[in-house]
Amino acid sequence: MGTAPVLDATTARYDIACCLCGSRERVVVHEKPPFQIVRCTGGSGSGGGSGTASGCGLVYTVPWLDRAALRAMYQRDYWKSDAAKDFGYTDYVADEALYVRTFRMRSELVARHKAPPAKLLDVGCAAGFALTALRERGYDVHGVELSAEMAALAGQRLAAPERIHCGILDDVEQRALFGGKFDVITLFDVVEHIEDPVAFLATARRLLAPGGILVFETQNVASLFARLMGLSWQHYKFQEHLWHFDPKTMPRLLQKAGFELVEWSPRRGGKHVSLRFLVERAGRVHPWLSKLLAPLRLLGNRSLYVNVFDEMLVVARPAAGA
Ligand SMILES: [Zn+2]
Repeated sequence: MGTAPVLDATTARYDIACCLCGSRERVVVHEKPPFQIVRCTGGSGSGGGSGTASGCGLVYTVPWLDRAALRAMYQRDYWKSDAAKDFGYTDYVADEALYVRTFRMRSELVARHKAPPAKLLDVGCAAGFALTALRERGYDVHGVELSAEMAALAGQRLAAPERIHCGILDDVEQRALFGGKFDVITLFDVVEHIEDPVAFLATARRLLAPGGILVFETQNVASLFARLMGLSWQHYKFQEHLWHFDPKTMPRLLQKAGFELVEWSPRRGGKHVSLRFLVERAGRVHPWLSKLLAPLRLLGNRSLYVNVFDEMLVVARPAAGA
């Protein structure tokens, strides 16, 4: 079992430029030393005219772990964490049934925009739970995963290790893995972890076949729930969530990467979660709340569907001429 990586003050990165406008100007929104949640005040908010009077408006975390620590983080400890309210997952693999149910729901959205059979790549596929749901629906599935342990599990889960690549999205393009282009690329809880999401999405765009679509999910920092929760919001995971998009900044991200928005919605952004998970997350609000709810742990793997409308499920397609 693991805990969150400790920030090394000598290698921590403070010199971070906004991925949308390139500015390093920012104001602090929340602070939990050594971390800050900041809002970019640079630029004019150009690129769709969605910036605010105070500038670009993109919310992000500073400082970042150094690159090696950031990559190393997604190994074993991340998937079985002692501190899941701040870092990683309590026991990702044990919650398989819940994840597959959640991804079945999301696969309906994928199917509405690109009916199966279609060739699909899930980036950051973890143990293959989304791929399981998407394959059930009839997609020709492939996955990319940075964690060697998770990539191996995904290969076992699908009984098709040749359909999983342990590495990063760039490998798929540079080595023409899985025979090249895809009709659908999915990214669930991935974009916010990526150092350069514009370059990352541009790579995804180049990997799409004509008529292909991108489907991704990321958290909405401007949602009512995020604003009510403040610093206690469960998506302020300082080591791992580098960027926090919202309905104004997300279309600018898409535009910079050569995509246009087809639709976004918080409706399918909910998750099937165990009561144990809810008790843990309540501890983020206040330790006493977690203690108060502790008896619910006895209900073990009972689950319920929770949607606090703080996620964005986004469908996009390559922009004309991109
Ligand atoms: Zn900016």
